[in-house]
Amino acid sequence: MARYTGPVCRLCRREGMKLYLKGERCHSEKCAIEKRNFPPGQHGKDRKPKILGYALQLREKQKTRRIYGVLEQQFRNLFEKANRAKGITGENLLGLLERRLDNVVHRMGLGTSRPMARQVVRHGHIEVNGRKVNIPSYIVKATDVVSVREKSKNHPGLLAARDATAHSPAPNWLEVDRENLKARVIQNPKREELVQIQLNEQQIVELYSK
Ligand code: SF4
Repeated sequence: MARYTGPVCRLCRREGMKLYLKGERCHSEKCAIEKRNFPPGQHGKDRKPKILGYALQLREKQKTRRIYGVLEQQFRNLFEKANRAKGITGENLLGLLERRLDNVVHRMGLGTSRPMARQVVRHGHIEVNGRKVNIPSYIVKATDVVSVREKSKNHPGLLAARDATAHSPAPNWLEVDRENLKARVIQNPKREELVQIQLNEQQIVELYSK
């Protein structure tokens, strides 16, 4: 189960925006985007490239991959799945990414960032419909119940994350019971419910349709 292990603030600087990959640090003045919002590298400060056409499509794809912590091949597979499904491909793609188990755990407030939520899943703290699932890329579906396993309910890291994210509202497609550390998927997420994500999924569709 491969994942990116390099410096993460660099990814935000590359995209010129906060991707929220480091939890609470992202909301502090230590955030690299607050201090040096220019591309990484020796000449990053001097370069002001116009991002158009293919470059724009590539940047949207990279940004999306990085926000959700998905590597290239896995992202491509998700795109193929979204393309085969009924409906608008770009919206299907975002829906699949949102329904990844690590993202759901993050939306439940049990990880201050997606990478932390991924670790929570990998460490076996989560179950779906009463069965342990430790695969971050597992895609949940409507009516699924995601919860913290009984043995992990007093885990200090999970409780601390829940308290730290108390101010973040849960999305409409998820019914979150913070007290009991569980959530039910009400429906598949709709694009208008994901407006807080500044992505142009149509650019990704055009990139992969060449
Ligand atoms: Fe990105 Fe968070 Fe690093 Fe800021 S602190 S640059 S938002 S990962």
